[in-house]
Amino acid sequence: MTEKISGGPALGLTELIDKELPVSMLGSALGRERLGGTLLFFGPDGGGKSSLAFWLAAALNCTESRGLAAGCGKCNSCRKIANLNHPDVIWVFPVPGSIYKAEQPDQTKLAQVFEKKREKPWCEIQFAEKSEHHLAAVNRIRQEASRSCYEGRRKVFVITGADRLRLEASNAFLKLLEEPRPDVTLILCSDRPSSLLPTILSRCQRLQVNRPRRSILAGLLAGRFAMSESEALDLLDLADGSLPAALRLREEEALQSRQEWVDKTFRAVLAPGAGVCLELVEDRRGPMFNRGDFERYLAGLIQELRDALMLRVAGKEALSGRGKSIVDTGPVAEFAGQVADFQTLIKLLFRLIDLRDALNRNVNLRLLGWSLMKNMKEVLQ
Ligand SMILES: [Zn+2]
Repeated sequence: MTEKISGGPALGLTELIDKELPVSMLGSALGRERLGGTLLFFGPDGGGKSSLAFWLAAALNCTESRGLAAGCGKCNSCRKIANLNHPDVIWVFPVPGSIYKAEQPDQTKLAQVFEKKREKPWCEIQFAEKSEHHLAAVNRIRQEASRSCYEGRRKVFVITGADRLRLEASNAFLKLLEEPRPDVTLILCSDRPSSLLPTILSRCQRLQVNRPRRSILAGLLAGRFAMSESEALDLLDLADGSLPAALRLREEEALQSRQEWVDKTFRAVLAPGAGVCLELVEDRRGPMFNRGDFERYLAGLIQELRDALMLRVAGKEALSGRGKSIVDTGPVAEFAGQVADFQTLIKLLFRLIDLRDALNRNVNLRLLGWSLMKNMKEVLQ
């Protein structure tokens, strides 16, 4: 089970458009119709290469602002592009080889990849295994590029991490570049353009995309995560100036803080009397004062109790590594040890799931928090 923890709302692909990205350059090339069929956006991570690709794809396919050098951002076409599901704007991400079976991608796994990108458009999709562009992916691009547009004016392929084309995939890709179609735009994005084959590089119209100014990034982070500009600048320093790295750090921080409050809850429930529980409910730094925080906190509690239950019913093997040490030795273990039997634990779990549903009904968060702890206390022997 994966819980959605963002530590704040997702940062969209459009955030830096018109602020820092060299859109004017692309816009004027579009206006003069001198835009090449194969483009390479290169520069460090967090520069906004994907954002720029999105901007260009929208400009090329917007149904409202035809002739102008920018998408309207509102029409059906622009919205589909922003949601990564326009049939003529095709995103290709480096993926692990295990996604393919007999040259065909596993559609469920592929859908999960897109879901991850939608969730965090600024961060590279992380996989446990090595991710690359495989021959099968390039073959699919070639096949798709030979078809005419479904609904747009121009077929756009955005190939992120383009330096991770496997050798046989690079060779197939070259063939694609040698047989260009007038209505196809290929956008390659790369942090390490020197790793691309020189024969591919020489066929690209190149555009360097530098990281936006630190003050702009700090303003963006501060606005998103209720932190001061100086805190945001500190976070950026820690992240070496990279926005995706800063977002990842922030996420880790949110996870850590969620874990702290989950642990505190088990300890409060185990403490005699109701005093510690009440203190926790009224603590303004805690999760009872913000709906999003409460949601993540409750998800954390449910996850730990579920793990504790699995541990009790099926033994350690059932947890396959995740959170085993916490569940084995942390406050949740002590709590689960004091519950009479696993049926009681199951009942509690269902009760917490009911409380999670109550969150959608606009109830008072502290009342909900109090009810949560009361339910937990009641199952202790
Ligand atoms: Zn539009």
